[in-house]
Amino acid sequence: MISVDLHVHTFYSGDAHIPPKLIVEELHAHPLLKAAAITDHDTIRGYFEACRLASTYKDIMVIPGVELSTFEGHLTVLGVTEIPSQPLSLEEAIDFTRANDAVIVVAHPYRVMGIGDLARNIDADAVETYNGRSASRENKLAEELARVLNLPGVGGSDAHRKEQLWMAYTEIDASMNVDDVLNAIKHGKVRAVMSKSRQVY
Ligand SMILES: [Zn+2]
Ligand SMILES: [Zn+2]
Repeated sequence: MISVDLHVHTFYSGDAHIPPKLIVEELHAHPLLKAAAITDHDTIRGYFEACRLASTYKDIMVIPGVELSTFEGHLTVLGVTEIPSQPLSLEEAIDFTRANDAVIVVAHPYRVMGIGDLARNIDADAVETYNGRSASRENKLAEELARVLNLPGVGGSDAHRKEQLWMAYTEIDASMNVDDVLNAIKHGKVRAVMSKSRQVY
């Protein structure tokens, strides 16, 4: 079982302030949480930088991802190292993800920029039931959505600042290997966790 923050932004997101180097150092220093998915808004640059920096450490893992801005709202895609041309619709984002055999996570469905009930019409792999920056009520609605759709629930901090890192994360029954993690998410071998130290926004 490994603990992974599946939703982290670097300063390449534009609205975030976390240097990729800091994420790598914090993972190395953390006693338990040794892996994170870099899911910047519409760019992979932060992932590539974090990945390069992480390669000097043996105990941590960085997972490629992106939070795509679609006309309908945000969609997190894990396991891609390129992005589709934009602007794009939710349907085009789904097509891109499937063509790349990647994992679709419905990010913060009931917060601003979430796709909300549109998630019922798409073939997602998981719902983000614990988002570190969503209100409890919004996370509860996401949990209900995951239950209705019979999809696994995952957690991620959605950190844009250092102090928000690891506020929510996912326990995954997988080894420290990206493909293994992606497969485990697809097969529901996950449990969303909210950190006790979380601040409510
Ligand atoms: Zn978002
Ligand atoms: Zn985000």
